[in-house]
Amino acid sequence: MVICAASNNAGKLKELRRILERMGHEVKSLRELGIDLDPEETGTTFAENARIKAKAFCQASGLPTVADDSGLCVDALHGAPGVYSARYAGHHGDDAANNAKLLHEMEAVPAEQRAARFVSAVCFLLPDGRELLVEGECPGTVAFTETGTNGFGYDPLFVPDRVGLPDGTTAENTARRSYAELADEEKDAISHRGRAMEKLRAELPAFLGEQ
Ligand code: IMP
Repeated sequence: MVICAASNNAGKLKELRRILERMGHEVKSLRELGIDLDPEETGTTFAENARIKAKAFCQASGLPTVADDSGLCVDALHGAPGVYSARYAGHHGDDAANNAKLLHEMEAVPAEQRAARFVSAVCFLLPDGRELLVEGECPGTVAFTETGTNGFGYDPLFVPDRVGLPDGTTAENTARRSYAELADEEKDAISHRGRAMEKLRAELPAFLGEQ
């Protein structure tokens, strides 16, 4: 199936593309489709914002569309930055400023109270209006310093509890590597987005009436 991967975030688009292509779909980015839109994310939940983006980009592309809304929810910060993850430091998509702010807010928080989870809501929308919404989560902790250069966003500060293995299983993250220190497959197998997309893969045939 040809699918519009609806994200203006380069890091997220890269992940959506590789996961959808691994599932056998052909992916069109907004740039490839000539779509220059930035819908306002007025929702108060990841699901609401994923739906807002899917609707706007499905209408613009005329294609089955996948949109993700995601973010980091930190226990010690009562769930912040949450749906405001992209604009935590005030300016949308400024990863360096967001990471600096997170480290600052967490300065006095001891190791055993640094639990957090990444959440991803993925909305798959067909041009006829049918919609499939799935969510994935990845538990972990917020590190004291940034490590690693892969990925994007809060990746250098997030240490997932588990990592993916080459045989498709997962293992405890005993080396305490951050998301930004993981290879693509190691992250996708345990990440919030990887888990949401795995649910989408599993539910898609029934949703499309193929089963
Ligand atoms: P959205 O585009 O409004 O969903 O914003 C998501 C924001 O959450 C991004 O700008 C990142 O700051 C953060 N985020 C979401 N997923 C990830 C991830 O896999 N790694 C690091 N940061 C992420």
